[in-house]
This record gives sequence, C-alpha cells and structure tokens, in this order.
Amino acid sequence: MNHSTPVDYPQPQSGEIPRYSGLPTFFRLPFGAQIASLDIGVVGVPWDGGTTNRAGTRHGPRELRNASSLVRRVHPVTFQSPYDQARVGDLGDVPVNPVDVQDTLVLIEAWYRALHEQKVMPLTAGGDHLTTLPILRALGREQPLGMIHFDAHSDTNDTYFGGERFTHGTPFRRAVEEGVLDPKRTVQIGIRGALFSEKDHRWAEDNGITVIRMEQVVEEGMAAVMARARAIVGQQPTYVSFDIDVLDPVYAPGTGTPEIGGLTSLQGQQGIRLLQGLNLVGADVVEVSPPFDQGNLTSLTGATMMFELLCQLADAHHRQRLSTGAGE
Ligand code: MN
Ligand code: MN
Repeated sequence: MNHSTPVDYPQPQSGEIPRYSGLPTFFRLPFGAQIASLDIGVVGVPWDGGTTNRAGTRHGPRELRNASSLVRRVHPVTFQSPYDQARVGDLGDVPVNPVDVQDTLVLIEAWYRALHEQKVMPLTAGGDHLTTLPILRALGREQPLGMIHFDAHSDTNDTYFGGERFTHGTPFRRAVEEGVLDPKRTVQIGIRGALFSEKDHRWAEDNGITVIRMEQVVEEGMAAVMARARAIVGQQPTYVSFDIDVLDPVYAPGTGTPEIGGLTSLQGQQGIRLLQGLNLVGADVVEVSPPFDQGNLTSLTGATMMFELLCQLADAHHRQRLSTGAGE
C-alpha cells in the first residue's frame, strides 16, 4: 500500500493457509521475535489477580489470539495495513504470578520497561484492568502520560475489602498518585452503572479527570465526544486503554463487571478511529473474560478492537518515523 514500506516487515500468515489451522498468534503474526527487531509488540497479560468479583481474564490472551485469526490485514475504511507501516510481532505472554499481586505488578512493569527502553510500542491483551497500572509505571516514568480511557467504570476508587489498594477498580487513582498519569490529560468515556456512593466520581473530577458519562455520549455523539477528548490530551504522549465493558453486554457479555446501556461495537470502533493523529505511545484491551463469554463473541469483539488500536499505533509510529527522518 505504501511505496516507502520496507519489504522485510513481518507479515501475518498468508490467507492461502486456512485461518483455523496452525498455532494461533495475535493476527497470525510471527511469534517470538526479538524485541529490538520490532516497532510494535503485541503482548498478552494472562492475569486476573486484581479482579474483585467475577474472575476469568487470565484466559483472555489465549482466546483473543484465537479470535484474532479472523481479522484480516487491511482496515475496511482507511485501506491501511498496519503491517506495512510498522514492524509488528507477537511477543508472547508476560510471566505473571497468579497468586501474588505485588509480585505480578513488578513482573509486568519490568517487561514493559524493557519494551520502552527499546522504543517498542506495546499493544496489550489483558488481563483485568489492574494490568494497566504497571504499564503506565513503565511508560510514564519520565513524564506523566495522558490517557483516553474507554470504560463503563472510572476505576478511581481508593480501596476495596477494608484497605486493599491494588485492584482493577483502583488503577487510575494509584497512577495519578504515583505521578505516571496526568489527570488533566485523562478522559474517561462511556461511564455508567450503579455506584457504591454518589461520591464515586468525585475524586476523579476533583483531580481534573474528564468523566464523560454514557448519557453524554448519546446526547453529543461519538464525533463530538472524541473531538473534546482529543483537545484535552493534545499532542503530548497519550496512552489508550479500552475496557471491553464499555460496550453494551449484548456485544461483549464475556466480562466480569457488565453494565447495560453501553456503546455499540461500531461506536467503539468509531471512537478508536477518531484517535488518528494523536501522539500515541501504547494501548490495551482489557477485561475480556472467556469463561463468561457466549460463542466467543467477546473475544472476537476484543480482537477486532485490538486491530483498530493496532492501526492507530502503526499510523502514529509511521508519522513519528517520517517526522524524525529515522529508519529511511
Ligand atoms: Mn476498567
Ligand atoms: Mn469496566
């Protein structure tokens, strides 16, 4: 598609080989590449140690890999192929400790720090949403990141169970406290669902996070919401976190904390497509829980959202490469 594309970029397995055959990797990409040979690394975090209620996201990466074999290589609207814009590979799963939260937070951060030091952008398949905290610790160490966060939940609670500070309901409060996430450049989209208290979102709003509730998405439309989000994050480094429960459970039932009245699949895709042109540094799809899924629908939806995000990351990488003149 792009005449300047080097011909040796890794490509997905050819369509001449049936999509259901062979070992599943993300998007049928080569597995186990050297980190230094890639621009974007697709990574699984098979973990649910931060889950407060219905677990199962430890099985997310394997099912997302399987479902991703259905996703072809060219974007249906832009005709972009991310594999022509960046060197992309499946880097496998982070070796988590399923029975130790703090140990796992350290393991995940170390993995992503290695990627960051090699200037490899991560696209992550979770894992519950606590997964994003150590990723932000690794990527936001030098400078707090902005974030566009699609979710039914704000995930800025303080503690659970009488004092537990590290759960999938607390990652972004911790990230702000630790100085790796800039609340004034953080936008949460699709927030809804019954609360513990009417004060649940007060901490986020008092600290400068923009909370856009589902009712506002319906009233304003995705284009206006995303225009607002883009203005807030600006051209500074920005991370994208996509909790699959931002979608209505009719589209994504396989998740631990479903909330009715959510985005359609297409609204989710439109939201990601409207990230084009931002200074993106990484992205994730989290909270896919295969044990609660129906007919692998949520895994397919999650894998497709990962492809939409991959297209944005590859485009961001391509623009950065052109602007610095590197790699030509
Ligand atoms: Mn979440
Ligand atoms: Mn959520």
